[in-house]
Amino acid sequence: MPRIHFPVFTDRSPISSKAGLEQVDIDGLEERMEPELAEQLYELERCIECGCCVAACGTAQMREDFVGAVGLNQIARFRLDPRDERSDAEFYQLVGDESGVFGCMTLLGCEDMCPKDLPLATQIAFLRRRMVAASFA
Ligand code: SF4
Ligand code: SF4
Repeated sequence: MPRIHFPVFTDRSPISSKAGLEQVDIDGLEERMEPELAEQLYELERCIECGCCVAACGTAQMREDFVGAVGLNQIARFRLDPRDERSDAEFYQLVGDESGVFGCMTLLGCEDMCPKDLPLATQIAFLRRRMVAASFA
């Protein structure tokens, strides 16, 4: 549950902006996708943006600019989507720093508190591996 000092989400634009969602063209034609991949994307899209993961996050308490598990989950979702043509280098520009995936302390309060049981730890670890690789590319 959100902590008592946690403000109610009224403006999600910082998350959308950090996730680079304004760069995604949603007017394109539908494309065929492997059912397994579609299931994987659907799993991550179950996020209801309740903010419980951010409320439970030690890094988010200390850093206002930290995108939080909700934003990292969105980035992971688009990184998996073959229709999103951004490269890892471009995702690195979004979350390859302390306000992104490298600010996460991996204590996993986010996953413990997520009411939708999203695999946040797995997705953050996935993104971190991709971003580490991108930093050496
Ligand atoms: S706690 Fe889960 S459902 Fe709520 S915003 Fe975070 S990832 Fe989404
Ligand atoms: S694992 Fe990362 S995102 Fe999740 S609560 Fe800990 S610091 Fe926050």
